[in-house]
Amino acid sequence: MFLSKKTKYEKIRDSERVHTSTYSLRYFHERVPKHEMREEGMPADAAYQLGHDELNLDGNPSLNVASFVTTWMEPGARKIIDENLHKNFIDHDEYPQTSEVQNRVVNMLSRLYNSPSDKVSVGTSTVGSSEAVMLGLLAHKWTWKKRQEAKGKPTDKPNLVMGADVHVVWEKFAKYFDVEPRIVPMEVDRFVLTAEKVAKNIDENTICVGAVAGTTFTGQSDPIKEINELLVKVKKDKGWDIPIHIDGASGGFVVPFVHPDLEWDFRLEQVKSINVSGHKYGLVYPGIGWLVFRDEADLPEDLIFDVNYLGGDMPTFTLNFSKGSGMVLAQYYNFLRLGRSGYRAIMTNILDNARYLAERLQATGKFGLLNASKVLPIVTVKLEDTSKFTVFELSAKLRETGWIVPAYTLPANAQSISVLRIVAKENFSRDMADLLYKDIVNACEALGQGKGHKVVKLIKDKRKLGHGHEHSHIAC
Ligand SMILES: *Cc1c(COP(=O)(O)O)cnc(C)c1O
Repeated sequence: MFLSKKTKYEKIRDSERVHTSTYSLRYFHERVPKHEMREEGMPADAAYQLGHDELNLDGNPSLNVASFVTTWMEPGARKIIDENLHKNFIDHDEYPQTSEVQNRVVNMLSRLYNSPSDKVSVGTSTVGSSEAVMLGLLAHKWTWKKRQEAKGKPTDKPNLVMGADVHVVWEKFAKYFDVEPRIVPMEVDRFVLTAEKVAKNIDENTICVGAVAGTTFTGQSDPIKEINELLVKVKKDKGWDIPIHIDGASGGFVVPFVHPDLEWDFRLEQVKSINVSGHKYGLVYPGIGWLVFRDEADLPEDLIFDVNYLGGDMPTFTLNFSKGSGMVLAQYYNFLRLGRSGYRAIMTNILDNARYLAERLQATGKFGLLNASKVLPIVTVKLEDTSKFTVFELSAKLRETGWIVPAYTLPANAQSISVLRIVAKENFSRDMADLLYKDIVNACEALGQGKGHKVVKLIKDKRKLGHGHEHSHIAC
């Protein structure tokens, strides 16, 4: 992950140690080390040219169909971001209007998620969904602990019930905050959670049930309504008031616009908190996420810290402290600019283009589509015939045409299935779908004739996606 053992550093090749300039040769000739800070600086245009040239070696974000994260914003949004780069978001007393904007966005989201009109929703901006998930689960852990203490019951064995379709942040939370993860495995014909499996895993030490609206693996959704019905019944029968936290990182900006009748949000009684990534289908650059609680009572006051040393009294509920204001303001810009109809039009278009590609791939007879439910605009396919080549080889072959399309193995007990995943974003046009389709078909043809490179090792690399899934599987 990071360099560098200093001793080894002395031994590495010259080209690893110093820059070999390209265009920046126009500005300087001296040797510029890569891993140690020079005594002397350099002119601004030289530093710019050097950094700029190096970053050209990154992949092309427009051809990156691996990631959900926004790669383009309007000039107006960039202007707002640029004008506010120098404001530390956490200085609420100094920048009260920026805080006010955050609160408005939280209110807009709570309404978008149908929070009950007789409750006061609260929430916060975060760096992304990962921080938001951790904060949401912390709140539920705290509430559970207080309730157990009040009953004179032990508080040393909290657990968290979720499916193997969760993002790695859920397992991170369990590990970092010492909560037993109870992960319901997938099956070869089921890639989401079921209410029945939840029923088998909950008990009075369950701090929360996690459900995903749009999983990173297949883009499907957990059966949130059924899980809610189960937990409402459990509350009545056994007195266990188990909240649901919805991970709407990707789905939170798609479902409300294209599937408004799907009940996945605060319309369901046990759904107490929802997170969403502003930098995914919220259409804002990274990093911005949001966490919304159904009711202020769902966020324990103990977890809110008041800080007074920046002037005024400032309540904070975050894991980190300082961060930029730009993306909070950019989210507000998008809400003003697009309105609900703008988001609806964009999401509908993205979904249509994803479906178009899915249908074309299916029509070849070579691919099986895993996410027929189409909650998210992603295309997850497996190869029907793996005797000649695998999705890993196909993914590597597609790199030759510039496409970054990840291949990965599903978590247990569906690990016999390997898939290729294409995430459609706003920039994914029909032309682009056609081009990608053509390149996939050509790549399959070449691989079928033995013109690929063997990438057996890549199978191990599925964690490059950032969705490492070392699940500890539990019986259920
Ligand atoms: C992307 C994603 C996350 C992590 O979100 P970040 O905003 O990248 O921190 C969590 N859960 C799901 C379902 C996701 O798709």
